[in-house]
Amino acid sequence: MQAKQDPVVAAVLELFPGAYITEIIPHAEETAPMDFTPTNVSPTSFSDAFQALLDEAHQIHNMEQEPRDYLGGSRLGVECDRALAYEYFQVAKDPDRNFKGKILRIFDMGHDGEDRMAEYIRRAGFTLLTHRSDGQQFGFGVAPDPVTGKSRIAGHIDGILTDGPEYVGCTKMTYPCLWENKGLNDKGSKGCVKKGVKEEKPIYYAQMQIYMAYLGLGDNPGLFTALNRNTGDIHSELVPFDAQAAQQASDRGVRVIRADSPEDLPRIARESTDFRCKFCDYAARCWGAAEPQAAAPVPAPLFGAQPAAPVTAPAAPGTNWLKNANS
Ligand code: SF4
Repeated sequence: MQAKQDPVVAAVLELFPGAYITEIIPHAEETAPMDFTPTNVSPTSFSDAFQALLDEAHQIHNMEQEPRDYLGGSRLGVECDRALAYEYFQVAKDPDRNFKGKILRIFDMGHDGEDRMAEYIRRAGFTLLTHRSDGQQFGFGVAPDPVTGKSRIAGHIDGILTDGPEYVGCTKMTYPCLWENKGLNDKGSKGCVKKGVKEEKPIYYAQMQIYMAYLGLGDNPGLFTALNRNTGDIHSELVPFDAQAAQQASDRGVRVIRADSPEDLPRIARESTDFRCKFCDYAARCWGAAEPQAAAPVPAPLFGAQPAAPVTAPAAPGTNWLKNANS
């Protein structure tokens, strides 16, 4: 049986016998407007897929980076010696504990924001040095490895204010002073405003103290600035040198580099359910490991005679920052 012919096709063939018709496009009024959006992909799923693509590349890139072969001054405020030792000994994190793309982007925002903040500070009339003439950051390095000679504890700072306004409001400024900057989320930023960096972010506080100690910048309070990534507000405070905190952070570093393995160092908690362990990247490894045979001996500090005594910096105050170790 012959298929029924489309009336439009029939009319065309009557006018143009022998015409080869492949498709009849209906009149515009009879059909919906053209829409080339793929019907099986929602904008959300595209966005998720795109982010996943970027995340994967970012995570791979991050894992390909050369790990630090020294203990960074920025990490000496980590509360648990053993957790810090896992980092120093470059122990693999527990499965699924490597940084995800989102966290890596937050880190990047922090780094990128540093240049912006430096620009704002300079524009306001301060002399802020962030890099040496060879382009390297200022920093310090101590405790050379007996074999390689490389510093086992080192740090690189955001900058040093060497000059600027005599007063900010009613507060007299003194130079040179350390500058440390962070980009914080709303909660962390407001916490700093309310409680101060020492209480809200003790790890940053310890970082500043160790920098001031080893760079001979303890004579003047350091400037801590934090940019609220949600609101653009800037929190700033002057952080006086705290010899005891610097000593504690230094002692922690010494315990870690003197350990033969992370498990030689005591855990910070008695139970794996301790809240500090819940956030630890090495919890499975740590709690699966045997108890240390004996508590690690407390080493002599790298600088200063007694923990409570003022830290004696390795060279004349205010000049060490001109040098740099592990560059
Ligand atoms: S799991 Fe807890 S005790 Fe073990 S390294 Fe991490 S923070 Fe320290």
